[in-house]
Amino acid sequence: MDGQTGTDSRKLLGRLRDVMADDAAGQQRLDQITQLIADEMHTEVCSIYLFRDEETLELCATQGLNAEAVHQTRMRMGEGLVGRVARTGEVINTDDAPATKGFRYMPETGEEAYSSFLGVPIQRLGEKLGVLVAQSRQARLYSEEEIYAIEVVAMVLAEMTELGAFIGEGAAMSARHQQPVLFRGGTGQEGASQGHVWLHEPRVVVTNPIADDPDREMERLNDAVEELRVGVDRMLSSAATGDKEQLEVLEAYRMFANSKGWMRRMEEDISRGLSAEAAVEKEQSAARARMVQVNDAYLRERLHDLDDLSNRLLRILTGQGGETGAEMPPDPILVARNIGPAELLDYGRKLKGIVLEEGSVGSHAAIVARALAIPLVIHADRVTTEALNGDLVLVDGDQGIVHLRPDETVVAAFRDKMAMQAQAQERYVSIRDKPAETLCGTTISLTMNAGLMADLPSLVSSGADGVGLFRTELQFLIRSHMPKRAELSEQYSRVMDAAGDKRVVFRTLDIGSDKVLPYMTATDEPNPAMGWRAIRVGLDKPGVLRMQLQALIRGANGRSLSIMFPFVAQREEFQAARAEMEKALERERILGHPIPETLEVGAMLETPSLAFAPHRFYQDVDFLSIGGNDLKQFFFAADRENERVRRRYDTLNVSFLSFLENIVARCDATRTPLSFCGEDAGRPVEAACFAAIGLRALSMRPASIGPVKSILRRIDLVDLRAVIHEARDEGHQTVRPMVMKYLKGKL
Ligand code: PEP
Ligand code: MG
Repeated sequence: MDGQTGTDSRKLLGRLRDVMADDAAGQQRLDQITQLIADEMHTEVCSIYLFRDEETLELCATQGLNAEAVHQTRMRMGEGLVGRVARTGEVINTDDAPATKGFRYMPETGEEAYSSFLGVPIQRLGEKLGVLVAQSRQARLYSEEEIYAIEVVAMVLAEMTELGAFIGEGAAMSARHQQPVLFRGGTGQEGASQGHVWLHEPRVVVTNPIADDPDREMERLNDAVEELRVGVDRMLSSAATGDKEQLEVLEAYRMFANSKGWMRRMEEDISRGLSAEAAVEKEQSAARARMVQVNDAYLRERLHDLDDLSNRLLRILTGQGGETGAEMPPDPILVARNIGPAELLDYGRKLKGIVLEEGSVGSHAAIVARALAIPLVIHADRVTTEALNGDLVLVDGDQGIVHLRPDETVVAAFRDKMAMQAQAQERYVSIRDKPAETLCGTTISLTMNAGLMADLPSLVSSGADGVGLFRTELQFLIRSHMPKRAELSEQYSRVMDAAGDKRVVFRTLDIGSDKVLPYMTATDEPNPAMGWRAIRVGLDKPGVLRMQLQALIRGANGRSLSIMFPFVAQREEFQAARAEMEKALERERILGHPIPETLEVGAMLETPSLAFAPHRFYQDVDFLSIGGNDLKQFFFAADRENERVRRRYDTLNVSFLSFLENIVARCDATRTPLSFCGEDAGRPVEAACFAAIGLRALSMRPASIGPVKSILRRIDLVDLRAVIHEARDEGHQTVRPMVMKYLKGKL
């Protein structure tokens, strides 16, 4: 263990491999390992602690401490030196353990006799599995070489734990990836589904962490890195030159692939007895550990790049990866760290559900998942580490919960939930072709929100009266390059074809804020939601707006056309936008293109200022549509993207309802057609209240049309309006509780 004896990590790993190859039971293997480490490192104690649950470590094997303490001694994460190593993921090397911060005396182990302590985490790609400890009587610090050796052993142990090599007595030694795990994330798209895991990027399993022929491993590593480099160069030469972000990522890949430090460290690991893939994974683990600590967004991105690159390299080395030969289950639930919209569209409607570690409500993947009506849970922390291809999984998109490998009772309860949903679905189908007519005889127009070609089949299946909001920016967001005018007009034409006689309201580009186009230079704004977005961009830099207006006229090809401008804050903006439309029409006329049979030009009411706009504004517009998502965030000054404040103010808050009533009254007075197209229109209770205060057109996601129609057909708007007024008169902050009482049994 000291300079003279030295720890020969190759020899140690060689012996370790023999233990692994032996057919011994789990406990016996662990015992053999602690013994051989103690022998090879000439240290009196070697102990292995494994997690029995997320918070508790258990002593699972020891050479040197009291044997009776095995499976008895436990500590919580952070408790004692072992717990500290587990929590921080950092090595503790001390010559005076009792005097070291955090030391906790465990009488049953008999460890008071040992002064020196070396603890290293057992972890695999950032996943904490346990702690490996060496202790000795003599007060001294362990050398770099010794630390290296024990770290490498810890890594091999982690691989073996992953493979279930230590399954045996004690909860801490039960097989990983077999127990049920519950993830609490966020809702990306509602709905419940059951299926089997399909990993977007399958984990690479390293089955041979130790190798006995370093030259051969070196050769394998060099060949793989060469293949990787060629691959990256190929991607670079075929990448679109305008795609700055993609180029940047590939350049970073190339930089890593050519990095001498990265190569040198891996070669060093191989020369000490690791296989090529284990060496790559060791580097990857180190990068992941750094990732957790780095706050700088740019650096984190680069570490992510390195992580991706390591995965590629591992796939080359092991031959595993996208083409593992694994067969996609018939009911796939996609599990991924994150996924791009185009990749998601490639999977299409095959998927029964999606679970992401990252993602956000407004992310492009979420938009696509919504279009495809696939339940989506986001922020399911560590799900890619826990899930294995083929695992049973239940996705509860309503609650943002995922049950991985659930037990029977959970499965049974979930089945009930799905059955209830299916029943409700049947009810919705039965009223699909009926009008949304209330008991008092008022018919509400229910249209759908759309934006992708994938949305179009829903026009028929949902029973929507048309498309009340077509978000044209989605076509721009899912691409890596700016779409051409001809492509756009072709798409708009297809949308109108699919709608037939039904009206489609095309909203011009709403980019900026959370909707950043990958191929446009993002402007760094202090508050993008209130920044240079939507019609502001369209008017200041009218090139794209003009191109889009032309594409819309051409797509209509003589048919009726409805266009609406987003984020108008004052009358002049609407006038200027309308003038652009007039100019575009004139140009098209001169060029000989057919002009729409009828043309309606409206605005979205998303800023409170428009509610108080001059009377003339209401007369100017052909129609208005309330964009409740934005309007609400500005009304309450609560960022719609900020989870902390997003739900703080109820839509049914009396102030907001009164505000909406005021807009309804102004539209009535000027005979301006008005609709509501924010997310709230698709929530049955909110939708009922909107109808009660006078809104006659609601636009929502297709999946919401059934539930909203169902409730509207069961209520009397006069009664509900009376309830709302009563709640307001009584001074309630929100009308929700009283409304819920009225709606009881009708939902
Ligand atoms: C809204 O703000 O309510 C709206 C419909 O527009 P978006 O959600 O696209 O901003
Ligand atoms: Mg909006």
